[in-house]
Amino acid sequence: MSDCRHDQLVLIRPPETRLRCVRCHLTITPAELEQGYCPECYETTGRQVDEFERLQNPTDARVRYRCERCGITIECGANAGQCGV
Ligand SMILES: [Zn+2]
Ligand SMILES: [Zn+2]
Repeated sequence: MSDCRHDQLVLIRPPETRLRCVRCHLTITPAELEQGYCPECYETTGRQVDEFERLQNPTDARVRYRCERCGITIECGANAGQCGV
């Protein structure tokens, strides 16, 4: 593992933007929000809550790669020069 040159890199897709319910703070992806209201609130209170906060993803500026050979994850900052590949 230590002698791996990490030359088989695969780009890892950044996580999706998440939405957070303002009432129960459930976090959910837009894809999971099929009905347009919070499933958690609906289950517990029967209300169709459709107020969501959009969570800023702190890892947005970063690109990550996974080495196919050894499985290590390499994270590159916004400045590609920081990437120790
Ligand atoms: Zn590697
Ligand atoms: Zn909710």
